[in-house]
Amino acid sequence: MQRGWLLARGFPPATLLALHNACAQACFFCAGPGTTGVPDHARSTVEAGLAQLRARPDGVTRLLVGGNEPTLHPGFPSLLAAAREAGFERVDLMTNGEGLARHAEEWARLGVAEVVVPLYSAEAAVHDAIVGVQAWGEVVAGLDAAAAAGISVRVHTLLLVENLDGIGALASWVRSRWGSRLGVALLRNKGSFDFGRSAPSFTAMITALRAIPVPDRPLGIGTPACLPTHRDKPALVAELYFLTQQRRRGRGCVGCAAADCAGPVSGYEDAGVAMAAD
Ligand code: SF4
Repeated sequence: MQRGWLLARGFPPATLLALHNACAQACFFCAGPGTTGVPDHARSTVEAGLAQLRARPDGVTRLLVGGNEPTLHPGFPSLLAAAREAGFERVDLMTNGEGLARHAEEWARLGVAEVVVPLYSAEAAVHDAIVGVQAWGEVVAGLDAAAAAGISVRVHTLLLVENLDGIGALASWVRSRWGSRLGVALLRNKGSFDFGRSAPSFTAMITALRAIPVPDRPLGIGTPACLPTHRDKPALVAELYFLTQQRRRGRGCVGCAAADCAGPVSGYEDAGVAMAAD
């Protein structure tokens, strides 16, 4: 079913293995009972993961691993090994990056070819305030270790009031350090935090993105057409993750000519207002 869904939308064939497990970070827009407080009985089972891997469809050799936080799942290493045995040749791993400094070489040997990791700032204090723990140094060391182990490094971020001033510096730093373009996505209003305090206006996001020179311009991950992002393809597992966001056109979208735009994620009522005023 995953294969058909992906092919119908123009994506390459792949299997998505979602491992749910308590995350050790506490990002303000995510932390809650279903992410930081997952009890053992609610964790994905190794048996279910093995069954999914062994049912690999013919011709599918790419495995996408996500969830929260998959690398902390006690079965993670054995599932990677099982993926190899089941015939998967390449693993794309979406992770918070904290385990990479210790395990990048081992995971590379087990088939991890790409890591997709969030970084919210080039400044440790800004990033750590957003993720709720001191993690920046470990994540950066982990991304360096991944690159040294031959793993492709893809970094994404959310456009937030807290980090918008530094988005250009982050994009430039990511590109010069790991050779890939920063991906940007919109905050989703889950009702569990103060969305109005942390979601920048469209005007502010457009201004910040336009100020970034084109060689460093971030690529959009499911962002609306009116945000000036680069049109490179995002990392597949990140694109699929952000595709699950609910979208609704804002009041400024009325009459917009971008017919193929699905609109911003719900909550951005000012979408299009800045563009209309341009
Ligand atoms: S539909 Fe709305 S969000 Fe999409 S490009 Fe137009 S104004 Fe922007």
